[in-house]
Amino acid sequence: MTNAPCLNRGITQKNKIMSGNFQWNAACCSAKTLKGKKQNIIGDMMEGNKMKLKDYQTELLNAAEKAMEKAYNPYSNFYVGAALLTTDDKIITGANYENASYGNTMCAERSALLRANAEGYRKFKAIAIIARGENFDMDQPISPCGACRQSLFEASQISDVDIEVIMSNTKKDTVIIKKISELLPYAFGPLDLGVNIEKYKRV
Ligand SMILES: [Zn+2]
Repeated sequence: MTNAPCLNRGITQKNKIMSGNFQWNAACCSAKTLKGKKQNIIGDMMEGNKMKLKDYQTELLNAAEKAMEKAYNPYSNFYVGAALLTTDDKIITGANYENASYGNTMCAERSALLRANAEGYRKFKAIAIIARGENFDMDQPISPCGACRQSLFEASQISDVDIEVIMSNTKKDTVIIKKISELLPYAFGPLDLGVNIEKYKRV
């Protein structure tokens, strides 16, 4: 059992997501914050009797898992894969790409965004993310770093879509699904600068 960052508050908490009924450890994340409005929290799918991923979500997650193995990670030995779903249903993947100058490292999510842009795609509906260590699995779903959330928000304004972020643990038996607006509330984007993004919109 490893400690994993709390996805709600960014603090370390052990074994946060309880299997069975998707409750969070009350000491960490108050369950009532999840009850008031409908939350897309999916847990422990292997047990059955639980929400299942939709077909496109499964397909995206599988693509991200495949991309994860392409990670260039000589420094962290941490593998991250991401898969974007364009608004016309094309899947574009990315993996983390590290650098001896650590700050020059690129995350899987932004790798996928850059690759998509180079291939002519700027509008997306969803992204799936998965990760593992060199010798350990992630018990809890991976979530995008702050920089990637900002980049995904930019993409969401260009896309006119509140992009769905599908976050999985290594075994794909615990998945959390949120909109980018939930992961980055009160976000700042191109529309706040008064930029006419119409001319930058591509499929
Ligand atoms: Zn990132």
